[in-house]
Amino acid sequence: MIAEKMLKLGQSGSAIRDIAAYADARRSEIGSENVFDFSIGNPNTPAPEKVKNTLIELLESSDSLALHGYTAAPGAMNARIAAAAQESERAGYAIPPECVYLTSGASSSLAITLAALVRPGEKVAVLAPFFPEYRVFAEAAAGAELVVVPPAGEDMQPFMAAFEAAVEDGVAAVIINSPNNPSGAILSEQTLRVMAKILKVAEEEQGKSIYLIADEPYRELVYGDAKVPFVPNFYENTIVCYSYSKSFSLPGERLGYIMVPPCVEDGKTVFAAVCGAGRALGYVCAPSLMQNMLAACADVRPDLSTYEKNRDLLYGELSGMGFECVKPDGAFYLFVKAPKGDSASEFCEKAKQFEIMLVPSDSFGVAGYARLAYCVSEQTAKNSLPAFKKLSELYGL
Ligand code: PLP
Repeated sequence: MIAEKMLKLGQSGSAIRDIAAYADARRSEIGSENVFDFSIGNPNTPAPEKVKNTLIELLESSDSLALHGYTAAPGAMNARIAAAAQESERAGYAIPPECVYLTSGASSSLAITLAALVRPGEKVAVLAPFFPEYRVFAEAAAGAELVVVPPAGEDMQPFMAAFEAAVEDGVAAVIINSPNNPSGAILSEQTLRVMAKILKVAEEEQGKSIYLIADEPYRELVYGDAKVPFVPNFYENTIVCYSYSKSFSLPGERLGYIMVPPCVEDGKTVFAAVCGAGRALGYVCAPSLMQNMLAACADVRPDLSTYEKNRDLLYGELSGMGFECVKPDGAFYLFVKAPKGDSASEFCEKAKQFEIMLVPSDSFGVAGYARLAYCVSEQTAKNSLPAFKKLSELYGL
């Protein structure tokens, strides 16, 4: 017999992967220059020079065991020290390296954290719009039930009364993601303060810890004077899940971490549960070559120039054509409202007529929008504008 839950998961597609596969097919049919593929968050920007050079130097060094051998399950100490230094700078106090558990990216950070903190049947709240894989990690890795908190309005900030109701009803954990995929919205300090107050009252009333899981793969990708606060400074029981996929443009190489800060109640026990969940899920250790790279590169920050130009161009031009867009403060996504009351999939199908690949918002927990991933080349962003113009004309905008 087969595990039904896993079979269902394997057979159900992902809206993002489906449209990315369609884009691939169109590229081979009509040439890549004629396809405006905004489907997937695969950074077009190359890895920073120091990261590239460090990897070359490492590969040319002869210490094969240190480069490619197993490390301790939470990671090699020099890499954990580097990640902890990055967190200490954000926290404003020293985060010991023993708080860091290196992983194969944010996906494994989230699956491990949820498996460690949530018991089967408990609830996990997410704020819509949310990264669709949260549902998979919560339901399949932790056996939890997902509770979706809707946004308050067009700016995609959480609807606080619904958040409070969900927390009062009983949740084991809440996942937040700021800057957000798919809207680019950042949770402000004020929003975090209100959420923290609601969570603390519920912890008191319910006599248990409620964990806030801060999924932060885009935290360095911010524009203008936008700031991403260090969440544990607002709410103690916060676990940070991080990834270098976007900041170092290395999504296929798989490196990230879980950070259980010293302010977490019974933090050492929580960390031990993280180690147990990592072990149970078969994450032996994070890729060694990437750990070695991190030990030398934790001070590297991404070059945002292409993302910023694409954001300004696409937000400005699409708004000018009559599309309603959420202005992104961070990440590399533009959330565009389906015009004239169309559903998200009707909008994305119409965009396809002009070879524009967008992802419908339904699996992100919000109806009537499309996600545009602008981590493409500046040329692709520019060349797509006539196609968007035709799409706007089709709608009579
Ligand atoms: N969380 C969010 C919000 C994401 O957008 C992504 C990837 O796009 C992930 C997690 C997973 O990232 P990783 O490549 O580190 O597994």
